[in-house]
Amino acid sequence: MNRRVPLKADTPAASSAPERPTNVLIVGVGGQGVIMVSKVLASLCQELGYQVKQSEVHGMAKRGGAVFSHVRFGHTVYSPTILEGDADVLVALEWAEGLRWLPYLNQDSGTFIADTQHIVPPFACRNRIRGADSGYSRETVHEVMESVANSFALDALQIATELGVPKAANTVLLGTLSTALEFPVDAWKGVISKFVPPKTVEANTRAFEAGHEWALTFDRETRLKEWQEHTARFSAEIARSDVAVTSTLEITEAWCKGCDICVKFCPERCLAMDERQIAVLTDPDRCTGCRICEWLCPDLAIAVHTPASPVEA
Ligand code: SF4
Ligand code: SF4
Repeated sequence: MNRRVPLKADTPAASSAPERPTNVLIVGVGGQGVIMVSKVLASLCQELGYQVKQSEVHGMAKRGGAVFSHVRFGHTVYSPTILEGDADVLVALEWAEGLRWLPYLNQDSGTFIADTQHIVPPFACRNRIRGADSGYSRETVHEVMESVANSFALDALQIATELGVPKAANTVLLGTLSTALEFPVDAWKGVISKFVPPKTVEANTRAFEAGHEWALTFDRETRLKEWQEHTARFSAEIARSDVAVTSTLEITEAWCKGCDICVKFCPERCLAMDERQIAVLTDPDRCTGCRICEWLCPDLAIAVHTPASPVEA
């Protein structure tokens, strides 16, 4: 299977005929690094001699807010924005944001690359019962992958976490994106190294390589089968449903700066500051796993772990 998006325009040196630019749409939520992905791609295109237009919306990019960026490159590019149905590649750093933007993907030839990580915004938590359904998208990975021919769903956060750099999930996705565009791998790595803090260059290079390798070894049929089996297993567990849906809270003390936000916003009042001004979970039985603390913490100090749903698988 050819994963590469045929470039719609040659470099100026290679062709003088203005052709349709290539459109890449990058979406996610605040705090995930959407803009970094977009800037890396735009800079790379510029280095390689393309004309590039980039536009972005991140005015509400507090953690959890929607963020998107359009990157268009080619011989000549006029408009900075991509029309509905005209994206050659849609890169989603967050699952539901990816689904929300799917109408922008070219339905015939577009490539959909999505992290299966899901970030449930606080307003999607409609009731306070432990394990209650949220208003978050219920489409499973299997359903979406079946309906979009050229689609790649991966747990980029998990891949990055296994590499010891959970914050580099966006770089993992850059690695996957690199297999869809005909640019030299070393050029990608060179540009990435300019956009990440110097001491994380090596870690980000590994993350990029992991995402690249994942895409090159991607076997669609096997993955579809795995997602289908996982969905069936999960549905059976829910059907038995005296099984309690439990979650656990992990607080990374070294990252907590004691701002108190999580304590103030927890709807169940089960967090508190200890004598060191570090957040602690005082009443685990009351915690519903709503993730509000996780998504409001400005320092990524809280992680809520829940059993994987088919959406996350
Ligand atoms: S501790 Fe966090 S996950 Fe648990 S109820 Fe409070 S805000 Fe929600
Ligand atoms: S929101 Fe984050 S940084 Fe602030 S007190 Fe809670 S865990 Fe610490």
